[in-house]
Amino acid sequence: MSFPARVRIREVAPRDGFQSIEHFLPTPTKLEVVQAIAQSGIRDIEVTSFVSPKAVPPLRDGAELVARVPRQGLVLSALVANVTGARNAVAAGIDELVVVISATEEHNRANLRRSIGESVAELDEIFSVAREKSVRVNGAIAVSFGCPYQGEVSETDVFSLAEAYAARGAIRVIMADTTGMAVPSQVEHVVRRFQTEFPGLELGLHLHNNRGTAMTNLYVGLVSGVSTFDTASGGIGGCPYVPQAAGNLATEDVVYLLEQLGVETGIDLMRTIRAARVLEKILGYPLPGQVMKSGPRDPKLAAALIGSGPCPG
Ligand code: ZN
Repeated sequence: MSFPARVRIREVAPRDGFQSIEHFLPTPTKLEVVQAIAQSGIRDIEVTSFVSPKAVPPLRDGAELVARVPRQGLVLSALVANVTGARNAVAAGIDELVVVISATEEHNRANLRRSIGESVAELDEIFSVAREKSVRVNGAIAVSFGCPYQGEVSETDVFSLAEAYAARGAIRVIMADTTGMAVPSQVEHVVRRFQTEFPGLELGLHLHNNRGTAMTNLYVGLVSGVSTFDTASGGIGGCPYVPQAAGNLATEDVVYLLEQLGVETGIDLMRTIRAARVLEKILGYPLPGQVMKSGPRDPKLAAALIGSGPCPG
């Protein structure tokens, strides 16, 4: 089995996680989480979104948050869905935009209140707003592997969005399994096709765990050569427009796996666990991450972190 030598983790908890939390987390609290995450060595953080505050009230403090995060080599990105969002994100001093369009009409309408065609029509302007300030653009495709409204997703539609992003100079395409419908054979097929159609363009995978397949999908992506993955501290997250949305892959679970496979991430596992625990304490309920509960493999480190005791079989 061969793996990429190095993997980039894009931490998305502050955006994908906090967007669906009912109450508003004050900016200093968000800042505390972002800093705990940054201390683990993670460099790429999707820190907020710039969308209508009416649509996503928990992230209405995006500009203030971006201004207050100590940069120290961090690459801050923000999700945007239109030109207004792009302008606001760029004005706030973001390093990268994550433009999102869904691969199906119904999800795009539910999520963004407009058609795919209307979203694509704004791409030229979004890219030029970004280019003016040397802001890089990620092209994200929601429901790339399955749609909660339409079921199957046309691969042709997914790849025509990838083409729309590639043609305008996106630094990477991120395929999101927004609803946790992807299966490993599909992931392998789509990744291979992407590599054939867009050689040299970076592909990121954003995998949700609604059906328990996310880690397997990540593994298949990894073996197929994908070296960028979106994960969320503690495994929080979920699309607010997907019924029964489940979380992202937990950052610390993925870092644990990659470390054991000998893949370099530049991230300190123990500190990702600490960040997840900071987050859990703030949120006040148990998070879905596994390694934050079980600890690393080293029994001494695990005992120091989790506490020791007999294991009841
Ligand atoms: Zn997500």
